[in-house]
Amino acid sequence: MSINGVNHIAIAVSNLNDALKLYIETFGLKLKSIMEIKEQGVKVAILEAGSTLIELLEPLGEQTPVGKFIKERGEGIHHIAFTVNDIKSFTTMMREKGLKLINNEPQHGAEGFIVFIHPSSTRKVLIEIVEPYKEKNQ
Ligand code: ZN
Repeated sequence: MSINGVNHIAIAVSNLNDALKLYIETFGLKLKSIMEIKEQGVKVAILEAGSTLIELLEPLGEQTPVGKFIKERGEGIHHIAFTVNDIKSFTTMMREKGLKLINNEPQHGAEGFIVFIHPSSTRKVLIEIVEPYKEKNQ
C-alpha cells in the first residue's frame, strides 16, 4: 500500500504546440499520446522521460481548472502524480489520516484510476494518486 514511484509530472502550458517543440525537439522526449479530455477541459500530451511521464496540459478555455490555474499563477508545474498498487486502500488510508480529497472515489484517468488530494492538505502541492490500468495481455 505504499507509493512506488512518480507516475507523471503535469505542466500547465498556454500553447501545447510550442511546449511540444521544447520537450520533443530540444529535450528529445518521445511523444506517447495526445488527447482531449472534455470533462476536465484540457488537451493533454503525454511524453516519456524514462519511466516517468511528463503531461503537458493545455486548457480548452479560460474557465476550465487549468485555464484558471494559468490565469492566476502562470504556466508551470500543475501537479505531481505518484503510482500505487491499490488505490482503494490507499484512498481509505489517506482519508483516515485526515487528508482532504478532491474526489472521494477513484475516477478513470488517462493512464489509470486516479484520486486528487487537495493542496490545502499537502502544503499547496496538488498531488494525484494513480493506479495504472493493467495491460490486457499481462
Ligand atoms: Zn495527472
